[in-house]
Amino acid sequence: MKATPIADAIESLCPKCGLCCNGVLFADGELQRSDRTAWLEQLGLAIFRQGGKRRFAQPCACFDGRRCSIYANRPANCAAFECGVLQRLVAGKLSAAAARKTIGLARRKFQTLERHLQKSPGDDPALPLSHRYGAAMRAPVDLAQPGGAGPHGRLLRSMETLMVLLQTEFLR
Ligand code: SF4
Ligand code: SF4
Repeated sequence: MKATPIADAIESLCPKCGLCCNGVLFADGELQRSDRTAWLEQLGLAIFRQGGKRRFAQPCACFDGRRCSIYANRPANCAAFECGVLQRLVAGKLSAAAARKTIGLARRKFQTLERHLQKSPGDDPALPLSHRYGAAMRAPVDLAQPGGAGPHGRLLRSMETLMVLLQTEFLR
């Protein structure tokens, strides 16, 4: 079968990215009635109810670091999601090189933020980025120490620069 432009774009970009599966772009995903919830739970997805909807937590248990291990049978919302980078690439508004550059930049910004998060006591990389950031920022600041507010300031700046990039390039 001939690959579609979106399938080609997914194949070339997504294994280098993973930001919509690893807890960076989303803290969780909504499941639809058509999704095989019991099967997904057996595979290790952490499913919970919120506002009458079933949701699964990210980082997703089916993400192997590069790809979705259940790609052909992934939840409906996962199959429907196309980030802004993919959309602009397929529409011819972004070159493949520019798309790769944007993804690389976002990943580097995430890695920088993660280095700051890892210095925070109790940081749990199994949680989505927004929860890790929230926990780190709730840690007490010791203003009596020289540079006591430094870690919070670095976290804030690092998170802000990543969020601006994600909002403008991936989520619009
Ligand atoms: S954020 Fe976009 S480029 Fe990255 S893995 Fe998801 S769909 Fe692919
Ligand atoms: S089910 Fe697959 S596509 Fe959906 S979040 Fe998990 S790894 Fe990503």
